[in-house]
Amino acid sequence: MTGELAKVLWYYNLLPNVYDSVQKIVCPFHSDVNPSMSVDLKRGTCYCFGCNEYFDAQRFVSRMESKYNGLNDLKAVQMYIKILKSKKCSNIHIEKSLKHYKRPNKKQLYDEAYDYYHGLGSIDWEDTEIEEAIEAREYMNKRGFSPVTLNKCKAKVTYNNSYSLIFPILDNGKFRGWVCRTMRKDIEAKRKYLYNEGFSRANTLVGNYGSEKYVFVVEGYMDRLKFIQYGVDNVVAILGWKMSVEQEKKLKERGITHVISALDNDECGRKGTKYLQTIFKVTRFTYLKGIKDPGEASEEKFEKMYRRTMSKYRDNIKKKGSQ
Ligand SMILES: [Zn+2]
Repeated sequence: MTGELAKVLWYYNLLPNVYDSVQKIVCPFHSDVNPSMSVDLKRGTCYCFGCNEYFDAQRFVSRMESKYNGLNDLKAVQMYIKILKSKKCSNIHIEKSLKHYKRPNKKQLYDEAYDYYHGLGSIDWEDTEIEEAIEAREYMNKRGFSPVTLNKCKAKVTYNNSYSLIFPILDNGKFRGWVCRTMRKDIEAKRKYLYNEGFSRANTLVGNYGSEKYVFVVEGYMDRLKFIQYGVDNVVAILGWKMSVEQEKKLKERGITHVISALDNDECGRKGTKYLQTIFKVTRFTYLKGIKDPGEASEEKFEKMYRRTMSKYRDNIKKKGSQ
């Protein structure tokens, strides 16, 4: 139990009340208009979606004091102690006010994620007048993704200007969570994707599998989207370069014996492919020079790579006498 964060936020007049453990406040560290800082008084931490940063009470004071009063770390620590002892904060006892708080469990987090995504309006990407959607469509278009593809994957917009594009994560059709993509360069440098709280990468395969004895395996959501765009639906994203044991199990349970590894054309992708070879029969996706992942390939290059890969796959099957 910690009351320090409540005191600190109260001291700076940033907190509307001390009764709700979880609140959204306007972030004092960036030019925030809508409250994008999520506060959890019980845990004693807050997170700003705009800055993409976590703070505890002391770190918060340190940032405030350096930003607004030019204090160094040592001076900020002294200030922190002063705040906790201040008269203004002496009446705050969150142990009492938050007595009934319970940490959300997995099911609650899942429900929150489900409600959040499904509560956002559906978008017809081929015919939308929503400003945020038009902006997102242009952004995706520059990356080679068409409105039809955005419709296929049921993308929406969040109205959070840091992470405005949101995609549902569907594992063979079942909703498992969501992922947001930032369109802002400054945020991309820190963190490109934001997953819902409680989302488990290891237990999820993004995409459809089981219709064939083989499946394409890619790293990222956008890589998978490129396949979808060109009509290949038998592809899963593992959201990383190394397949987890749970992901492996899911494929095996669907009778998959052969994977086509379209993991990135770099060191990690090659490591991940080697790992796959210890579990499945593997055909490596044939990358053209200079293409780092499927997500960045143009239509022409994608088709060339796809054709070469499939012919290699057929050769591999003949050689091994497998299916
Ligand atoms: Zn912020």
